[in-house]
Amino acid sequence: RLHNAVQELKGNIRVFCRVRPLLAAEEGTQKGMEHLRFPPQDNKTLVLLREEESHIGRERKDDVKYDFSFDRVFPPSASQEEVFEEISMLVQSALDGYHVCIFAYGQTGSGKTYTMEGPDALDPERRGMIPRAVHQIFQGAQELAEKGWQYRFSASFLEIYNESLRDLLGARPERGELEIRRVSSASEELHVPNLRCVPVESEDEYRFSASFLEIYNESLRDLLGARPERGELEIRRVSSASEELHVPNLRCVPVESEDELRIDGTNAARELRCSSVLSLVDLAGSERLDKSQSQGKRLRETQAINTSLSSLGLVIMALAKKEPHVPYRNSKLTYLLQNSLGGSAKIPDPNPYPTNLNLNPNPDPSNPNPNAYP
Ligand code: ADP
Ligand code: MG
Repeated sequence: RLHNAVQELKGNIRVFCRVRPLLAAEEGTQKGMEHLRFPPQDNKTLVLLREEESHIGRERKDDVKYDFSFDRVFPPSASQEEVFEEISMLVQSALDGYHVCIFAYGQTGSGKTYTMEGPDALDPERRGMIPRAVHQIFQGAQELAEKGWQYRFSASFLEIYNESLRDLLGARPERGELEIRRVSSASEELHVPNLRCVPVESEDEYRFSASFLEIYNESLRDLLGARPERGELEIRRVSSASEELHVPNLRCVPVESEDELRIDGTNAARELRCSSVLSLVDLAGSERLDKSQSQGKRLRETQAINTSLSSLGLVIMALAKKEPHVPYRNSKLTYLLQNSLGGSAKIPDPNPYPTNLNLNPNPDPSNPNPNAYP
């Protein structure tokens, strides 16, 4: 159902399907890959073959063919670069003042974190969508400087855990839970008061600056102290150009985390401004409650995850059907993403767009900005 709804939404939401390769441990043990077909001339279709008992004769088994169409299907051989190529236009439109949200959906182990973060942030080939998007934003901002645009960036990093928001850059327990609020009573725009927002001056500073790491480490200690059962903390030692850094890599399995990059651009000469948020979300696993046989704490976790993932589905369906009421407020995740899911770009000027890039090959006459991503 969600898949159909998303098809109707074409234009506002893009859905890509990535099939990861079998892991070494899975080779030979897992069925699955032999049931998938990637039609060679068509990179938008995934074919699933399933052996099913035919309705006519009980004994006979038929191969039933299901076609799923997406905006693009990535087979196991697809590189991170190929995946990023598909989303780079979206990332670019964040510099044009559009709220952009990119999230990975799938069950635990399906490759969400691999895709969003990558197995190694400093490996240029294998780094994921988040470091690539950040790279593109800073590079794009530099190019736009020639046209008189100056950008300021700030980053926040939060997690949604059991329907409560935690600041991964400063979540001291005594500061309490964070709330989502309207920017003002006159505005539909939402924000999270007290969420720590760290200015980032350059790509290197994003996630790797000393101050960022210091704050991050501090909040991680708090986080792990408060919830030791989730202590799947991995400290990675990486070296940047000049120095060695310890990069904590939070691997708390069933939570959602969101990276937000706030982008504020001004063009003094042309008296223009634009501001937007690029949200990069690594969703929690989408496995069903009944399959995970959870109990106690785990059960509550799973229920909370189900709340936000099913709310996400309902919101997308309501948007597709253009229903007057979109149930954003049913979960923290959808409420948080309301700004970007609802497609409300902050547009203070009728033509504030700094780029001349032709982002939209088929301009829609009803779209006020011909350069905007459709
Ligand atoms: P998730 O975040 O969805 O739970 P992970 O991203 O942690 O899943 O991926 C599960 C495992 O599969 C990891 O060992 C990861 O390195 C591996 N993996 C995922 N996607 C790919 C891919 N495209 N190529 C190679 N290995 C992958
Ligand atoms: Mg993950």
